[in-house]
Amino acid sequence: MSTEPLLRRSGRASALAISEIVRLSEQATELRRAGRDVIALTTGEPDFPTPDFVIDAAHVAARNGQTRYTRTAGELSLREAVASEVGVTHEQVIISNGAKQVLANAFIATLDEGDEVIMAAPYWTTYFDQVQLAGARPVVIPCDESSGFKLTPARLRDSITSRTRWVLLNSPSNPSGAVYSAAEYQALAAVLRDYPDVWVIADEIYEHLCYVPFTSFLHAAPELQARTLIVNGVSKAWSMTGWRVGWGVGPADLIAAMAAVQGQFTSGACSVAQAAALAALKGDRSFLLERRALMQARRDRLVAGLNALPGVSCASPDGAFYAFADLWGAIGQGGFSDEAQLCARLLETVGLVIVPGRAFGVPGHARLTFAYADDVLDAALDKFAAGLSLISSAHTN
Ligand code: PLP
Repeated sequence: MSTEPLLRRSGRASALAISEIVRLSEQATELRRAGRDVIALTTGEPDFPTPDFVIDAAHVAARNGQTRYTRTAGELSLREAVASEVGVTHEQVIISNGAKQVLANAFIATLDEGDEVIMAAPYWTTYFDQVQLAGARPVVIPCDESSGFKLTPARLRDSITSRTRWVLLNSPSNPSGAVYSAAEYQALAAVLRDYPDVWVIADEIYEHLCYVPFTSFLHAAPELQARTLIVNGVSKAWSMTGWRVGWGVGPADLIAAMAAVQGQFTSGACSVAQAAALAALKGDRSFLLERRALMQARRDRLVAGLNALPGVSCASPDGAFYAFADLWGAIGQGGFSDEAQLCARLLETVGLVIVPGRAFGVPGHARLTFAYADDVLDAALDKFAAGLSLISSAHTN
């Protein structure tokens, strides 16, 4: 009798499943391969190519022998370039394999069992999972549309306990597109002044995809700089998601602790990718404005289309490239109990893939990426309309 060895997952990883966004994107690819006409508005990356001058810099670096292990916290030239953007020294900068690894380093370096990390919902799925993987507890504050999906000072104050280690802020936000103004950040900072042991992570990866004035948390609350970690990188604005370069800017002792973690998991980030990121930071940025304007036009197109659908409403996001639509009306019209059922039926009936809000901690909603060409957005809206009409006639018949 053969006995299959049983996989025993660690307690920390036991609740971890493959991300719903990845699962849906892979399902869409499979269905397309099987010949189905499927449109997926699921990915978290722009459809623009990496700029040529960035690719050229990577070629040159590889040819010139920049192919060896890099310094754990990042190449000095890139750390200095980031430092001068923000007005700090290179000791206050770590370069990692994407912004995602910056966050993971910070959590692993600072969190103990039972510690708490406050995050507003809707949140980017990775925050929740990384905090759990680090053995700590995500404390989720549901934020609804009436507060613009943003954390308010009162809700923040109510959520802080003696175990709170971090408050995670993300502006512009994935998935809601919410952007904190300087005044809103200052009001949150005023609360945090009363809690000197609570640190702040401000994830500003969508800084250059902001359709209202952007404020960095560091500028709004410089008095909290000694306990603030800013997360940013080239992935979104420079269309460099596959290059895996992000950075953290924070107090030197935090950065050193994060580098020690990174040194044992991955070592320094890819040498050629760091050369590419350096070229990106030092190069001409006028194309960022053009791409932002194009993205804003796509936002308007998708949001107008969504608001024309029965049972769907969507506020216009101030940043990033996601629409976070309220589907409660459509859920009711179709006789469903939640948005996941509606999304699954849209996939079955018309081949439209969108991400259920539960992946971001907010049911009744769905995230639709608008980083796609106009014809793709139009076709997706047509599918959505056709799907809703099929669903509601099947429900009423
Ligand atoms: N932070 C947010 C809010 C994101 O949406 C993403 C990517 O989806 C990241 C960080 C990760 O960026 P990177 O690809 O540089 O790891």
